[in-house]
Amino acid sequence: MRPHPTRGRITALDAYDIRFPTSRRLEGSDAMNPDPDYSAAYVIVRTDVGDGLEGHGFCFTIGRGNEVEVAAINALRSHVVGLRLGEVLSDLGGFWRSLVGDSQLRWLGPEKGVVHMAIGAVVNAVWDLCAKREGKPLWKLLADLAPEQVVALIDFRYVEDALTPDEALGILRRARSGMGEREERLLAEGYPAYATSPGWLGYPDSKVAGLAREAVDSGFTQIKLKVGADLGDDERRCRTARGTIGPGVRMALDANQRWGVDEAVGWIRRLAEFDPYWIEEPTSPDDILGLAAIRRQVAPVRVAAGEHVHNRVMFKQLLQADALDFLQLDACRVGGVNENLAILLLAAKFGIPVCPHAGGVGLCELVQHLAMFDYLAVSGTLQDRVIEYVDHLHEHFLDPVVIVRGRYAAPTAPGFSSAMRPESLAAYAFPGGAAWQTPYDESPAGPYDESPAGPYDEPPAGPYDESPPGPYDDPPAEGPPA
Ligand SMILES: [Mg+2]
Repeated sequence: MRPHPTRGRITALDAYDIRFPTSRRLEGSDAMNPDPDYSAAYVIVRTDVGDGLEGHGFCFTIGRGNEVEVAAINALRSHVVGLRLGEVLSDLGGFWRSLVGDSQLRWLGPEKGVVHMAIGAVVNAVWDLCAKREGKPLWKLLADLAPEQVVALIDFRYVEDALTPDEALGILRRARSGMGEREERLLAEGYPAYATSPGWLGYPDSKVAGLAREAVDSGFTQIKLKVGADLGDDERRCRTARGTIGPGVRMALDANQRWGVDEAVGWIRRLAEFDPYWIEEPTSPDDILGLAAIRRQVAPVRVAAGEHVHNRVMFKQLLQADALDFLQLDACRVGGVNENLAILLLAAKFGIPVCPHAGGVGLCELVQHLAMFDYLAVSGTLQDRVIEYVDHLHEHFLDPVVIVRGRYAAPTAPGFSSAMRPESLAAYAFPGGAAWQTPYDESPAGPYDESPAGPYDEPPAGPYDESPPGPYDDPPAEGPPA
């Protein structure tokens, strides 16, 4: 970042418990998470600069426990409020280390779990503020940094045996070649996406087939199905989906950690006849050697994982152990943008394509920036790369993702695309928001529903303020100011 002469300070770090009642429609249902309520432990960083700009970030959770994440964010407040904004923005690497380095909070990890995710939310909020001040979308802000500036953002402790700062510099410097042309291509053509929405485990077969057909018709060249609860059901669902999309469309499978190692091998071999593009999270995300063993035994089916991999140190080992064919980083699992820069560079060093995890609430909005930065400034390629896309809850964001013919259009608004609409923050505040006060709206079943799953079109979930968004820098009308 260029020097920031501002004299302002960070005056507030506010956290909000925001939850969406997605479990009512089995959206997001998989073999390990049958009834998620997609939620965000939401952060707003405020300053006294007087420019009307705020930093927004969040952790994604799936309901219960979101209040624990909010508490962890609140525990970081003393590290953030009162800091000189210019000093923070001119040394975001140092800011990251100051949060991760709290010696007492560190005991709760280290660098994993609730506290680390809270750090990620705060770090991402500050990056959102930084990009807004620079007047650029985050992907562009990052791509415009000099390689030396990117390296200064990364904590190489624990990964230097696999990736030195000099090697990272080399990767970034090589990627300068052709960056301008890639940026033009990105803006013109977008970034490839795949569709997960057809394959939730709780959906009946007719809905899977209908949504799969819709995805292909709208330009997606890859879909994903949830598997792992019942082998007979999986064979039938895979046959249905493959029969619907034909042999030319990629079909990935996702077991969401359901199996042990040997069980995974047997199960995947049974599903291999349906030509899966990858098997995702076949076992525990912590089982590095187990994932490597599965990968060896199920080839040519490929292994993908990463959405629950909690830091750069674990990713380093997964890469060193040849455990992955695709690395699925997550914008909200690790310690924010800084740590994901390390993970992108590790993946580039090992030659493994990054296919980010998304979905949930707001993950698509965030992770597109990281993938686009990777294309411009790290890997320099779209080969074998694709970002997950799930078409839920985007309407709650001020700068929602835009999908055109199965590709993410590059966002152009300044920031990290992380800000939710103020009226959504108010309506979905838990437990006091209007969405949690009203009974479920029983509207008629959709075209693919066999009951009792309910309509698949998103209903109005309670009173929803359709008036234009209020002043952007106003705090939400409801929710704990903390
Ligand atoms: Mg997954």
